[in-house]
Amino acid sequence: MFRLATEQSLLEAFRPKDRSRVELPPGLSFPLVVHHTLTWAHPAGGRVFLVFAVPKGVPTGIAFDTNGTGPAVPHMCDWCHQTGLGTGVSLLSARLDAKRTLGVHICSDLGCQRKLEDEADRSGTSPLPALEALIERMARFARDGLKIDLTGAGR
Ligand SMILES: [Zn+2]
Repeated sequence: MFRLATEQSLLEAFRPKDRSRVELPPGLSFPLVVHHTLTWAHPAGGRVFLVFAVPKGVPTGIAFDTNGTGPAVPHMCDWCHQTGLGTGVSLLSARLDAKRTLGVHICSDLGCQRKLEDEADRSGTSPLPALEALIERMARFARDGLKIDLTGAGR
C-alpha cells in the first residue's frame, strides 16, 4: 500500500523522460491510497500506465505503448500468469532509452491485480501471496529491465 499526496506526486512516480507522455487519469481525488497497483489507459488509446511500489520503495510508474492486438490464440500473462485471448494479453513496450524499448507479454489493460483478486474470490483464498508475487515480477521488469532504481534514488 502506498499513498500519493497530489497529482504531482503521481506524475513524479514516472521517470522524467516519461512524464510528458503521461496523461493523468481523470476523476482521482487526492491524497490517494493505492492498494498494490494503480493502472489506467490513455483516453486516446495506444498507451497504458502502471504505478506500483515495492516494500520500502517509492511509487514507480511505467508508461507502456500498446502494439495492437495479438493473434486470437490464448496467451499467458508474464506477470499474473492468467491466460487471455490475443486481445487480453499482448506485447506492451516501455522505453529503455531514446532508441530502445523493452517488451513484455502482459494483460493488455494491465488488469493483472483484478484478475488475481477474482481468482482468489472464486477459490476462497487470500489474494495476497499472488499479489506479492505480481509486484515482484513488475519490480523485476522495472529494475532489471528498465534499470529504474525502485528506492527512488536518481529520479
Ligand atoms: Zn496479467
